[in-house]
Amino acid sequence: MPELPEVETVRRGLERWVIGKKLKNIQALHPRVERPDSWAPITSLEGAKVTGISRRGKFLWFELDRPQVLMAHLGMSGQFLVQPIGKVDERHVRARFTLAGGLQKNRELRFIDQRTFGWLAVDNLTDGIPSMAAHIAPDLFDPNFDQASIVANLRNRKSKIKSAILDQQILSGIGNIYADESLWAAKIHPERICGDLSAKKINLLIDSAREIMARALESGGTSFDDLYINVNGESGYFEVQLEVYGCEGEPCSRCGRLIKRISFANRSSHFCPYCQK
Ligand SMILES: [Zn+2]
Repeated sequence: MPELPEVETVRRGLERWVIGKKLKNIQALHPRVERPDSWAPITSLEGAKVTGISRRGKFLWFELDRPQVLMAHLGMSGQFLVQPIGKVDERHVRARFTLAGGLQKNRELRFIDQRTFGWLAVDNLTDGIPSMAAHIAPDLFDPNFDQASIVANLRNRKSKIKSAILDQQILSGIGNIYADESLWAAKIHPERICGDLSAKKINLLIDSAREIMARALESGGTSFDDLYINVNGESGYFEVQLEVYGCEGEPCSRCGRLIKRISFANRSSHFCPYCQK
């Protein structure tokens, strides 16, 4: 499942391959590829020129030479590929945009999504943010990210720290993998209550998450899912050393005790019972 570093890798790939192109001959190829509350069919964007690719959390949008934007969410397995027109389709191509203009000719952008949790939509901007992403808080790499106020917000909460850092309305972009990894780095048990943690500890947690995700970003994103491929068709397979996620029963690299896994809201938490009390 793509997390923030993967989505940012896709954003950079799209920036490189799609900015300056006109979207021609748009095809929606699956009934669920368009979000039901899309302002208009995605085919209504035919003829629009892409002027920028933005992201907030895991929401991506194509800025256009018109007031609307093309929104995209990769869901569990979404990918974008730029391919020569006429090249045999991958399985699960859900939408297609012929690209016109620019140096590379005869290319098309394909949105591929096996599990169909990803989607595309037409949306409008308010203060530079699409309405569909308006509820998403800035992420750790956003210039608008205000760490002091987020730490204060977390310290007022009675929820478990892991649930809170996964809540996209508090801060966005931390998914299950990076939540487990940053909690291990900051030596915090995933079920600790936010309000019981010091500001120093929460700052350490956020700094750890940022540092781990920055490392993943350098290596092109971390992913366990072989469905995940970045925009050029290269696998974004992980190169970041994971300390706890998926490491149940293996020794903790800090203390040597075995990593434990507990179930957590339909998912799992991985942690070291000794280092994370
Ligand atoms: Zn340990």
